[in-house]
Amino acid sequence: MAKIQMKTPLVEMDGDEMTRILWQWIKDILILPYVDLKSEYYDLGLKHRNETDDKVTVESAEATKKYGVAVKCATITPNAARMTEYDLKEMWKSPNGTIRAILDGTVFRTPILVKGVTPYIPTWTAPITIARHAYGDVYKNTEMQVKKGSKAELVVTDAEGNETRQEIFTFKDTDGIIQGLHNKDNSIRGFARACFNYGLDLKQDVWFASKDTISKKYDHRFKDIFQEVFDAEYKEKFEAAGIEYFYTLIDDAVARVIRSNGGYIWACKNYDGDVMSDMVSTAYGSLAMMTSVLVSPDGIYEYEAAHGTVQRHYYKYLKGETTSTNSVATIFAWSGALRKRGELDNTPELCAFADKLEKATIQTIEEGVMTGDLYLISKLENKKKVDSEEFLKEIGKRLDAMA
Ligand code: NAP
Ligand code: MG
Repeated sequence: MAKIQMKTPLVEMDGDEMTRILWQWIKDILILPYVDLKSEYYDLGLKHRNETDDKVTVESAEATKKYGVAVKCATITPNAARMTEYDLKEMWKSPNGTIRAILDGTVFRTPILVKGVTPYIPTWTAPITIARHAYGDVYKNTEMQVKKGSKAELVVTDAEGNETRQEIFTFKDTDGIIQGLHNKDNSIRGFARACFNYGLDLKQDVWFASKDTISKKYDHRFKDIFQEVFDAEYKEKFEAAGIEYFYTLIDDAVARVIRSNGGYIWACKNYDGDVMSDMVSTAYGSLAMMTSVLVSPDGIYEYEAAHGTVQRHYYKYLKGETTSTNSVATIFAWSGALRKRGELDNTPELCAFADKLEKATIQTIEEGVMTGDLYLISKLENKKKVDSEEFLKEIGKRLDAMA
């Protein structure tokens, strides 16, 4: 059978531990037999990051800017234990952090739903995608403990040297705490654009919420910027696509999310996104079924699984034991990247292949063939647990049957 041709390469970022093993198997079993893969390969495995003084991470992000699409395997973020394990020269930064800073992107996380695995909120029949603003607020704060008798003020010095002061609080009868936060108009604007673009991509409504009634300058600025960007750049495109932008207060948003059926993008301020993404992913059942895509304001896409390198399974694998590691989110990272490549290059065969690969994956699980994590929670009656590699081969069989 003739392999599907690609016009432009995509950037391939290899990674660590169990997900690195899955990466190769996914390519061998589910991609290379069907697609004449054009990829620019970067090895972000910790060993190679250390050998290159982490330059390979920066190079992979630069290549992503050039080609517009990347697919990334999970990678180790070094800590003290990894320093010894890998004999590292330095405690290299999180690759995801480095790549996100270079692409200035927003991360969208979406669960993959399958029959048999019911979300904790059973009415969530469609996925909720969470977009987290990844700049500022409490994550770049300045804070102090202050002594009784102190007066705390907010002081701003403008470019001409003029000072504006405002009292925060005078601690007359007790010690206390204060905190200074900031955000940047251009970062909020970029976040708004990324969310609206992704809404158009998925043809789904975009929700955004803050606490503008209480925070009349800070949170209100977020609300205003979202509205300005929407009105100026997206209103007509949204109307044409039949989707909506919806703003409400954060507490009202939480109540509506719980009552909803899913099927929209929920744009969150940094802290809300941190908290809500863990709540939403847990409620959908399994971290191994959560995809993640980093989208830059100028339309560059990097796809990956939301989970880590599954270290515990890797050590079993190294001892020669069989593992039953779920590769679904990593497969969907590949299908997402191939589909986006196909859209950008106008190669519908590639998009169709991505659709089939996802269908075959879901079909495999819905026919009862699954890895251990899903086996534990699936309510299907005739379910069967398979090992990591067998699972991929089962998907391959169904993929062949579709061709
Ligand atoms: P993890 O790799 O996500 O795994 C935590 C646990 O979740 C696993 O031990 C496993 O539970 C379960 N799990 C996660 N993914 C699974 C899958 N695909 N199939 C089956 N079970 C799965 O998190 P971690 O162990 O905290 O982190 C390991 C390494 O990953 C760390 O070095 C961290 O820096 C890195 N990490 C990377 C990324 C990224 O690159 N995006 C994200 C997060 C973490 P059981 O053991 O109970 O089976
Ligand atoms: Mg969190």
